[in-house]
Amino acid sequence: MEIVYAAMVLGGLGFVLGFLINLVGKYFHVEEDPHINEVVELLPRVNCGACGYPGCKEMAIALLENKVKPAQCKPIKKEALGVLEAYLKDYFSNKNQA
Ligand code: SF4
Repeated sequence: MEIVYAAMVLGGLGFVLGFLINLVGKYFHVEEDPHINEVVELLPRVNCGACGYPGCKEMAIALLENKVKPAQCKPIKKEALGVLEAYLKDYFSNKNQA
């Protein structure tokens, strides 16, 4: 019978903690710039770190802040590089107009 109580206590605790985590996640949710994910999608997404950033998301953020050139991503293919450069050119021209 003790094992049933232990299972009920652990189950209840898990439910309460899960609910609290969900609540905290909603309360502290931070809206992220959707351009970051769009740029990440244009990168190879291998998170190799060859660009000097810990991953593609950090590189995408740096690209959108104009701190780095797209060619710094070593594994990116030539065609993908062209698409990324066109995206960033469009992004910065729209940003300058706003
Ligand atoms: S070099 Fe390219 S693929 Fe590697 S982490 Fe940087 S952005 Fe991602």
